[in-house]
Amino acid sequence: MTTLEKIISCMDDYDPNALPVARAREVIRSFLVPVAANERVSVRAALGRVLGEDIVSTVNVPAHDNSAMDGWAVRFADLDPNGATRLAIAGSAFAGHGFAGKIGAGQCVRVMTGAVMPEGADTVVIQEDVRTEAGAAIVPAGQKHGQNRRRAGEDLAIGRVVLRAGEPVRPAELGLIASLGLAEVTVRRRLRVAFFSTGDELASVGQPLAAGQVYDSNRYTLFGMLSRLGVEVLDMGVVRDDPASLEAALCTAAASADAVITSGGVSVGEADFTREILAKLGEVAFWKIAMRPGRPMAFGRIAQGGHEAQFFGLPGNPVAVMVTFYGFVRDALLALAGRTDDFALPHFQVPSDTALRKRPGRTEFQRGLLFRDGAGTLRVRVTGHQGSGVLRSMSEANCFIVLEHERGDVEPGESVPVQPFDGLV
Ligand code: AMP
Ligand code: MG
Repeated sequence: MTTLEKIISCMDDYDPNALPVARAREVIRSFLVPVAANERVSVRAALGRVLGEDIVSTVNVPAHDNSAMDGWAVRFADLDPNGATRLAIAGSAFAGHGFAGKIGAGQCVRVMTGAVMPEGADTVVIQEDVRTEAGAAIVPAGQKHGQNRRRAGEDLAIGRVVLRAGEPVRPAELGLIASLGLAEVTVRRRLRVAFFSTGDELASVGQPLAAGQVYDSNRYTLFGMLSRLGVEVLDMGVVRDDPASLEAALCTAAASADAVITSGGVSVGEADFTREILAKLGEVAFWKIAMRPGRPMAFGRIAQGGHEAQFFGLPGNPVAVMVTFYGFVRDALLALAGRTDDFALPHFQVPSDTALRKRPGRTEFQRGLLFRDGAGTLRVRVTGHQGSGVLRSMSEANCFIVLEHERGDVEPGESVPVQPFDGLV
């Protein structure tokens, strides 16, 4: 018995005709081996990549105590707690240009935001509170010791783990890395994902459409979704429903990629022929998942030339491709890419504006439009016809309405979980 079959058969409640979404995710997760190889890249090139090692601060950020405001640096001990204090102006300090001396008793220094705290000063009084006259600054009572002073190392202290291996590099991390003065970073090598469409009926864009043909749109949605994930994409085109072509394409894909994604060829009518080829190349389970859309899906791995690739055989229907991608493939690819942070897509509850038909016993990913009603409350409504071939239902949507496995019909006003597309689609 293969490992994959073993994992599935250990599930006490496994129903081959209705594998719950959560179960399918568990199996996939237990099967993944993340990439471990690292490479060094320049800071900018690290954007969107996964950190390959912890980054420990070798400097204090900021490096010096400095002023958080435009104002006057003073010695708190000089201030009269009960009335105004008159201090002699000893000089000024700007960001990048410090005050050369040390301030003595009864003195103050004009400081700008970011200026190094003059030696001897411990407190900054904001300029709006201070009056000046004839070489002196008049500071009112009511100041607090150490106010408006940023401490050296308060952002990052020497020796502190600033970022962990497995975290994604976003704009904030780019800046953080730069604030440590690092010009290069160690990141995981980029995940390589090969994909192709299957089907005798598929025509390529730019070609005339013959009778019975449809344009291959899946390759474009897949290209878009994969590109957004930051993986390296290998577009292998369209493969005909012919065993030799399919086998050759799978071998080429598996030899050069970490993951292989196909669309089509896993529905009941076509699965047998795909199943035979995949049984030869590796271990792949053909699932009927308790979900809609996206019921048929294949998952496993294929081996080629001593190298293994994860395999995701997605359904052919255009909406089902996107739903299974976001439901299973996205998280799997991020885990494979080495991400260890919590990257699960966020859900939140909003009232449904309309009634929704829903059958218990499967998870439904209806396409919704989040909008604000007259009172400013977020609500959601479905986008028109929800057929799994109607890609317009995705294009008009800005979220999935994820109706849970057990749930039945939804009444208007009932809360439903939504997953916004923003940044996804
Ligand atoms: P299949 O899963 O191969 O049986 O395909 C299911 C439905 O999706 C059929 O109507 C196909 O024509 C359609 N389909 C399959 N692949 C694609 C594709 N790459 N682009 C657009 N539609 C497709
Ligand atoms: Mg097909």
